[in-house]
Amino acid sequence: MDLIALAIPFFLLAIIIELAVNWVRGAGYFRANDAINSLSAGMLSTTTGYFTRLIPLIAWGYVLQNFALIDMPLSWFDASPRGIALWITAALAWDFFYYWYHRFSHEISIFWAAHAVHHQSEDYNLTTALRQTSTSFFFSWIFYLPLFLVGFPLEVIVAVSAVNLIYQFWVHTQTVRRLGILDYIFVTPSNHRVHHAQNERYIDRNYGGMLIIWDRMFGTFQDELEEDPVVFGVRKPLANWNPFWANLQVYDYLLFDARHTQRWRDKIGVWFRRTGWRPADVQAEYPKARADLGHFSKFDARPATGLQGYVLAQFLVSLVLALGISARFGEAGLGAVLVPCLLLWAQLWTIGLLNEGRAYAVRVELVRLLLLVPAGLAVQEAAYWPAVVAYIAVSVAWLGSGIIFFKQIVKENT
Ligand SMILES: [Zn+2]
Ligand SMILES: [Zn+2]
Repeated sequence: MDLIALAIPFFLLAIIIELAVNWVRGAGYFRANDAINSLSAGMLSTTTGYFTRLIPLIAWGYVLQNFALIDMPLSWFDASPRGIALWITAALAWDFFYYWYHRFSHEISIFWAAHAVHHQSEDYNLTTALRQTSTSFFFSWIFYLPLFLVGFPLEVIVAVSAVNLIYQFWVHTQTVRRLGILDYIFVTPSNHRVHHAQNERYIDRNYGGMLIIWDRMFGTFQDELEEDPVVFGVRKPLANWNPFWANLQVYDYLLFDARHTQRWRDKIGVWFRRTGWRPADVQAEYPKARADLGHFSKFDARPATGLQGYVLAQFLVSLVLALGISARFGEAGLGAVLVPCLLLWAQLWTIGLLNEGRAYAVRVELVRLLLLVPAGLAVQEAAYWPAVVAYIAVSVAWLGSGIIFFKQIVKENT
């Protein structure tokens, strides 16, 4: 049973409710371009995850089979007092190691390169929660190996990790302000807002997943302060709506520094030293100015005139496609979702380009729609054909009417 897949409809429903509350209050917590980008990163993370999810399971299973200190059969984890105590212990232990995984993800450059995606949004709403990385698979599981050395069953740890991740969804909101005593014990909207801030005082604080007590124990807690309103986002802004680049940007910065520094020690240090550290020679030759939060303005590129509705419609289609892929993966496995995933990724890329209002985006989008014909043939399922043909026809016609505005698009955005 995949708890996270089951939770997705509830996540989407909660986003719609938050959107409605935001609209009624005129709170300004949502922008369509940013929310589409966050959810695109989420769809990319979920679908690339189908291809990488075996990596931790194989590593964990290996350690459990060969090195476990205690043999804990699954039958111990029942509804008895002992079983409940074991479940709570497993959940607390996961949360403890999550704290350290998350802390390393911020404080060491190569881990930050993977995690930064989650922090790039300059808004803060429930869509931010789903803005997840696609590249943490190569190291995140290492932090949880002690659980398998102790001997917790794989099924139990997979379940508590899913509950931990699902818990973290609701704290990504500005609609809930302070929660009294809960803010002292649990990770809540207030103390997780601090975690997503780029204000000097809030940087590298509040790493907890479910409990904030770890931050209090290890000296990384910071309360949200009235006099220092949170500025959301990262110090080096993403400044585009491309979900692929969102996953690669920090690696690219590190690669640049590693290539340009002279000393070998620094070429390695770039990846493994404290986040933000740069070799002295690169810093001198290619200095980076610190962001001035006093004059901060959000990245806010928008689709060209006449294409806002088109981008929103394509985004909704991508969402339906992603949900379809999720169901199909559950029924038929990895081989059955490869082509649909490629189609989804191409669509997420062009949605990003259109969302930025780029002049060439319309041409790229037309090419994508035309390539759907041979790609659709590769799926070889006749039942989908009327829907695919209708989708291509409506999209081309809609885009065509958008091209009437094309001269205006070029004028606005080139
Ligand atoms: Zn973080
Ligand atoms: Zn978060």
